[in-house]
Amino acid sequence: MRVLITGGAGFIGSHLAEALLHAGHHVDIIDNLSTGSIRNVAHLKQHPKFKYVIDTITNEPLLAELIDGNDVIFHLAAAVGVKLIVEQPVHTIETNVHGTEVVLKHANKKKKLVFIASTSEVYGKNTDVPFREDANLVMGATVKHRWAYACSKAIDEFLALAYWKERGLPVVVVRFFNTVGPKQTGQYGMVLPNFVRQALAGEPITVFGDGTQSRSFTDVSDVVECLVKLMHEKKAVGEVFNIGNPQEVTILKLAELVKAQTGSESAIEFVPYDKAYETGFEDMPRRVPDITKIHNLVGFQPTVQLGEIISRVVHYFRSQQS
Ligand code: UDP
Repeated sequence: MRVLITGGAGFIGSHLAEALLHAGHHVDIIDNLSTGSIRNVAHLKQHPKFKYVIDTITNEPLLAELIDGNDVIFHLAAAVGVKLIVEQPVHTIETNVHGTEVVLKHANKKKKLVFIASTSEVYGKNTDVPFREDANLVMGATVKHRWAYACSKAIDEFLALAYWKERGLPVVVVRFFNTVGPKQTGQYGMVLPNFVRQALAGEPITVFGDGTQSRSFTDVSDVVECLVKLMHEKKAVGEVFNIGNPQEVTILKLAELVKAQTGSESAIEFVPYDKAYETGFEDMPRRVPDITKIHNLVGFQPTVQLGEIISRVVHYFRSQQS
């Protein structure tokens, strides 16, 4: 198959490009390098079935041509990272809503299969874990910029599902739960690469809040393997899927594990949310996926567990240092 990945030089996009090429597919990527990096795909540049375009997806004639030349589109281009979102809410909302609008509009012309990347963040303040795909999305107030990300992704989901229902465009919505692994940068706030960088540099490991909030981390290799399987599954069309690892860990425990695995002398430092992000910042206390639906459809079961997940990220950061 011929596959287009928007945001293909980003963290998940670049791993997906590699997995698809490995499976024998043709891969085109488009990326404006806003948070992605050409280094992420440098090793793929010579591959005969790989093409990369450095541009924005809002260059519509170009996007239309790329969509035309492919069978499947993975729409991963988006503004991501809580730090980026809190600092640049206008950019976040515009990028995430408008980007998806143009992708769906052009994919619809020839009814190309589109995967919309969404997020566990859409469950918002819902505390009823594990989250099932049909659970309520519980948003915070609009003056709290953090929720702009969840809302922008929820709009993307609504729009995609509306295209399916009203116009017959085949779409699949995937909600990622804290996907981590090599090549992810901590620059935009993501906790694991931040902790590993801090630990290796001997800097304080900054735990925001009291560290009792928890997350379920999923290795990117499990995520992309699942996406490649889902691409061939007709029953996925018109559906929403959680993709994550239900194994839960508190952020304080994560800091301790990173410290132990790196043998770091770093202190673990608690930073109030107000200082870390903005006054009145609200966090999600827990975030655990129910993966029954994706398991039943494609047999998805995460294979990489937390110790190994951390070890891979540590190995990546060490390899970047040398
Ligand atoms: N966090 C932290 N220290 C950091 C970065 C993040 O304690 O340096 C916390 C953050 O407040 C949240 C969790 O780690 O509770 C996960 O944050 P991340 O930004 O990776 O993803 P989120 O799940 O919030 O989208």
